[in-house]
Amino acid sequence: MSRYWSAVVNGLTPYVPGEQPKIDNLVKLNTNEHPYGPSPKALAAIREATGDGLRLYPDPNADALKSALAQRFGVQAKQVFVGNGSDEVLAHAFQALLKHERELWFPDISYSFYPVYCGLYGVAQRQIPLADDFTIRVEDYLPQGDGPGEKAGAIIFPNPNAPTGRLLALEAVERIVAANPDAVVLVDEAYVDFGGESAIALVDQYPNLLVVHTFSKSRSLAGLRVGYAIGHPELIEGLERVKNSFNSYPLDRLALAGAVASVEDEAFFQASCQQVIATRETLVAQLQQLGFEVLPSGANFVFARHPARDGAELAAALRARAIIVRHFKAARIDQFLRITIGTDSQCATLVQALGEILAD
Ligand code: PMP
Repeated sequence: MSRYWSAVVNGLTPYVPGEQPKIDNLVKLNTNEHPYGPSPKALAAIREATGDGLRLYPDPNADALKSALAQRFGVQAKQVFVGNGSDEVLAHAFQALLKHERELWFPDISYSFYPVYCGLYGVAQRQIPLADDFTIRVEDYLPQGDGPGEKAGAIIFPNPNAPTGRLLALEAVERIVAANPDAVVLVDEAYVDFGGESAIALVDQYPNLLVVHTFSKSRSLAGLRVGYAIGHPELIEGLERVKNSFNSYPLDRLALAGAVASVEDEAFFQASCQQVIATRETLVAQLQQLGFEVLPSGANFVFARHPARDGAELAAALRARAIIVRHFKAARIDQFLRITIGTDSQCATLVQALGEILAD
């Protein structure tokens, strides 16, 4: 607290990201990074961009990246917005598109940055409980009538959801979007490349649908900070208005060069996603053998609990062995561990350690 702070800053509860500890030989399975590196072509493009060009500002409109993404997804460049990580894209969306008189609806167990942005931008919110099996219940997101509280001002959810990993089928997403023509529906697909079906296929049909992706997970470029949104040109223009009132150059020259090269290397992208999916399936089977209940995952992490062992204690015991996973001290999920899919060898180390801990 400081008397120099604004009233808004006094009232904030900031987001706390997973830790990035500096421990030797750490098995780091806590922040959903990709276990293998990015496309070598992306790395080469980044290296090439480190020349004299850095003297100059980057392209404020990121035209090359928007074109590459538009081509990749079969949309027009004016349907693409890019930002400094998908967190920045989400932040602009909260201010530009999700803030209305009616409440913003999102799941109670979800990406914990959403309530933080509500606090920062003064967005009225309603958190809707997930079903007992941790799925998003489509019926809960359909308007009940026209009265106060019966309709959402806007809707946001991750698909697959985080931290549960549970996936909603595209038909279910479409039911929510189609039933809410007066509200923007933002589908945060940070993890969709690990087995989900993207709602980008629906953006030409629904002017109220905005789909947000990131280069941090499936493209193994968390350190580069690139995210994007695809939707109707009017939604994109709303985001551009906020961006151009905030920072003209959110993506630097290295990020633009690396991101374009990553998008152009489709074969590498597909192969590296498949590798993570294969490791996930092996890890799920091994955790189940150890007695864990593992929620079905469409992401690069699994959410698992053991019927006989406390979640926080398991996380602490792993940490003592230099293996870090994410544990949330929140209602309904405090017995779960969220485990990022690592390399095969990291996952084997984890399974071995859990076997020893459970035998204690
Ligand atoms: N959405 C979800 C659901 C996430 O889990 C994350 C990662 N913390 C993000 C968005 C943001 O990712 P980034 O800013 O790295 O693109």
